[in-house]
Amino acid sequence: MVMAKLKHLPQRTCIACRTVKNKRDLIRIVRTPDQVVIVDPTGKANGRGVYLCTEAECLEKGLRKGRLAQALKVTLSDETVAQLFNSVQNELSKT
Ligand SMILES: [Zn+2]
Repeated sequence: MVMAKLKHLPQRTCIACRTVKNKRDLIRIVRTPDQVVIVDPTGKANGRGVYLCTEAECLEKGLRKGRLAQALKVTLSDETVAQLFNSVQNELSKT
């Protein structure tokens, strides 16, 4: 008997809506060991990461300063949050 090969896809939770999705369907934001918060399109950067759906609603909710700062346990400036939002939009426009 041949067993069906079920590829295990890593799953992560969106910090905005709490929906569990395949990791590749989410966008990762990571706080690097240098305390810099960046968008991580590869999903492989070191650091504490959070995930967001690619839908506008979740991005807006999840990229609010307070929410993101809490999730990443870091202090964020308005400027950083704005930059992150732009980076995310930029990444999403590539696909
Ligand atoms: Zn979501």
